[in-house]
Amino acid sequence: MKISKAEHLGMCFGVRDAIALAMKQSNGQPLTILGELVHNEAVLQTLRNSGIQFAKPDDSLRTERVMITAHGTSQRIVSELKIDGHIVIEATCPLVHFAHRALHNLVGAGFHPVIIGRAEHVEVRGMTGDLTDYDVISSEAEIASLTERPRFGIVSQTTQPIQKVRYLVELIRQRFPKSEVKFSDTVCQPTKNRQSAAVDLAKKCDLVIVIGGAHSNNTRELVSSCKRFCERVFHAQSADDLQIEWFADVEEVGITAGTSTPDSIIHEVERRIHEFARKRDEDRFVMGARERNPLTFQLNTGK
Ligand code: SF4
Repeated sequence: MKISKAEHLGMCFGVRDAIALAMKQSNGQPLTILGELVHNEAVLQTLRNSGIQFAKPDDSLRTERVMITAHGTSQRIVSELKIDGHIVIEATCPLVHFAHRALHNLVGAGFHPVIIGRAEHVEVRGMTGDLTDYDVISSEAEIASLTERPRFGIVSQTTQPIQKVRYLVELIRQRFPKSEVKFSDTVCQPTKNRQSAAVDLAKKCDLVIVIGGAHSNNTRELVSSCKRFCERVFHAQSADDLQIEWFADVEEVGITAGTSTPDSIIHEVERRIHEFARKRDEDRFVMGARERNPLTFQLNTGK
């Protein structure tokens, strides 16, 4: 069984930098991170072990220093934290800042803001948190909920597949032919790289394993992109999720991973698949020997 890894996979620079900053800032001093710094339980546990606390948006914060995750937040939240006396440490990814600026520029120029992404995702809530009138859509069906505006300004969550985003933008243009529709591409380059590498993998493999946290949006998007080109695609959070039966008749298995997935988990998954491949080869050899010469096989092995 051949094992192929996507050309681009796993943790992006934005998440790596945010984890490094959290570790540096927590060095002996109390620190609370607002939200999940990364959608990966193993990494979160390492951070908890070094004394870092995690809080949900409505939790009361018990430390003076508060960190914003790579997903970013609204200016309103940052201001409220400062008014409450907190020191705010920003780990917002520069590419999320870029998306905020693009949205801000469109709104400033008089466009009605439309964000393509998941409304409940922390990054999208950060983008919409300073707006009063906006729409968030994530599917073709949701375009029906938009009402006509003279000017639409569209951006997307940084981890959406760019083909899907461009398709939805085109549908908005078709639905509102009299409106001016301006699209600012805010899908980040690491997401584009991982998406196109995953599709390349799905086209040539008969099974694809996508590694990533259960709550990771970009991992889910990798799964659905791969499913367009490969019938068997499995989402695994770690090597323990893999099942040997998945690999029974597989010639080439592909591995890709979301932007929150640490290298150690990717290596462990790869190692486990090698183990399964070895076991499968041994079983095939034994079966072949039994079929070729049943009597000698029985005498030698007692089976
Ligand atoms: S997925 Fe993209 S925008 Fe998000 S943290 Fe990584 S590089 Fe930054």
